[in-house]
Amino acid sequence: MNINILLKQINKRISRCLFPYHCILCHDKSNRDLDLCIECEELLPWLKNVCAYCSAPLVIPTQSICGKCLNKPLFFHKLCVFFSYTETIKKMITDLKFQQRLIYAQILGTLLAEKISLLYQNEKLPDLIIPVPLHKKRLYERGFNQAIELARPISKKLNIRIGYKCCKRVINTAAQSLLPAKQRSRNVKNAFTAKQNLSNQHIALLDDVMTTGHTLIEMSRALYDVGVKRIDVWCCARTYLGGN
Ligand SMILES: [Zn+2]
Ligand SMILES: [Zn+2]
Repeated sequence: MNINILLKQINKRISRCLFPYHCILCHDKSNRDLDLCIECEELLPWLKNVCAYCSAPLVIPTQSICGKCLNKPLFFHKLCVFFSYTETIKKMITDLKFQQRLIYAQILGTLLAEKISLLYQNEKLPDLIIPVPLHKKRLYERGFNQAIELARPISKKLNIRIGYKCCKRVINTAAQSLLPAKQRSRNVKNAFTAKQNLSNQHIALLDDVMTTGHTLIEMSRALYDVGVKRIDVWCCARTYLGGN
């Protein structure tokens, strides 16, 4: 083994003994390199038995696609949503966005990366991750983009670049969560432009919360316009009432 790798591993072990990771939920020592213990991870509201395209709950659990999606054109090649936007996950995402708890993005991003690598065992990973951009005014108010923070650990673990400047939000739309479902499509219309030539690229769009999917569909339109070949969506959580 390379001496540098060996030293790095020894270093890591020593620092793990001196400064063990602690679970942010139960505050016990976490026996791994993540501030979340395995027991608490299992208790998170993971989404199960949902449609592979829209992540709506499946009436017949043995099917993988819901009746609605079987009958309509699909914007995304693959849609992976991991949690229900309830309980602990709702609190973590809200605190991430409004209390600057960036540690939650690190934890959630790491969990997502593990699941994503399982979901792509038999296919090629995307070439690029594009986090859903905030309008510059919203970015200035918040100080960071939560989707970018979620993307960082995924990018690192799966070795996929983040396309920070590939897509821009040119209209400062009202928060989707404040609008009734019918107005959401109109609210984000033409809200995005894609800046670079992304012809033939396979892209993963990344967002924190999804409800109707209109934001992601509108962003996809802009990306297909500049030649993107395939779009997959990775979204941390799904809500069916409020949210984005
Ligand atoms: Zn715990
Ligand atoms: Zn569906």
